[in-house]
Amino acid sequence: MTQEFLEKRIRSFRRFGLVAFFGPAALFVGPLCFFFLCDLLKWSPVGKDAELYILSSGVFAFFPIAGILIYWGERRYRVLCPHCGQSLITHYPVVLATGKCANCQKPVVEASA
Ligand SMILES: [Zn+2]
Repeated sequence: MTQEFLEKRIRSFRRFGLVAFFGPAALFVGPLCFFFLCDLLKWSPVGKDAELYILSSGVFAFFPIAGILIYWGERRYRVLCPHCGQSLITHYPVVLATGKCANCQKPVVEASA
């Protein structure tokens, strides 16, 4: 593979990672902002207990949702070492800097013409 191909894949994966992180994070931050605003207005559609319940379910929902999205994204965008089959995305700074697989140390990036 070429350096360009690898960089493109890594950029797509990182962009996807941001969405996978901030999308589910909004599940928590959204209600948090809403209840903060309600607090400022001294008005709330639900009781304090229900607020805590909604906020904590946002936190608990975050991890599985973000986990599934990142797992899916890793499979979708992964680039495997042609020699040992390890993912090159997980160690991409090393791979980009050296052009070699971080696991087996064999060259994976072709010298571009
Ligand atoms: Zn390798």
